[in-house]
Amino acid sequence: MTYKGHLVSSLMIGFIPLVIEKSFHTHTEFLTYLEYYLAGVIFGSIFPDIDEPNSYVGRKALIISNIIKAIFGHRGVTHYLIIPIIILICAILFLKNRQLFFISVGFSIGYIGHILADMLTKGGIYNVYFPFKSDKSYRLLPKSLTFYTGSFTEYIVVFFFFLILSTELYFTLSQNSIQNLLILFS
Ligand SMILES: [Zn+2]
Repeated sequence: MTYKGHLVSSLMIGFIPLVIEKSFHTHTEFLTYLEYYLAGVIFGSIFPDIDEPNSYVGRKALIISNIIKAIFGHRGVTHYLIIPIIILICAILFLKNRQLFFISVGFSIGYIGHILADMLTKGGIYNVYFPFKSDKSYRLLPKSLTFYTGSFTEYIVVFFFFLILSTELYFTLSQNSIQNLLILFS
């Protein structure tokens, strides 16, 4: 999936806790630390492709990216579900600083969103459930319902996710915070 597709799909997942907080008035503070949380989601949504020098994030960190790809291959270790889960558990257990906490939680959720989105593509992710390994690629849907990266079908799927995300945005945030966000991330 392209980085824009990853951004949209991870943000769509990342907004779920915000929608819940808004609807049920849970005191989870996602809205209080919104900017930190969303910055984490955004970074987490593109980070795993650091193992591909041609990806958006890979091009920004070309040397690291080439090293990771040479050692682990693309959609290797940085695409194991266990990594964002460990980050999330560590954040919950150890991070007392609220800003850092929400950046890390956002990062893990954006990261998980990235993995799920890659599992919608034809290639799936090899060994995604490491250390529970079996030598195969895993997808979320039967292979006939998956799509190729960069294909028209991906474009349609991402557009559908974008509609969901827009609804979440409209529902969760006030006009003001949407404007602030646009300024912040433009
Ligand atoms: Zn990926």
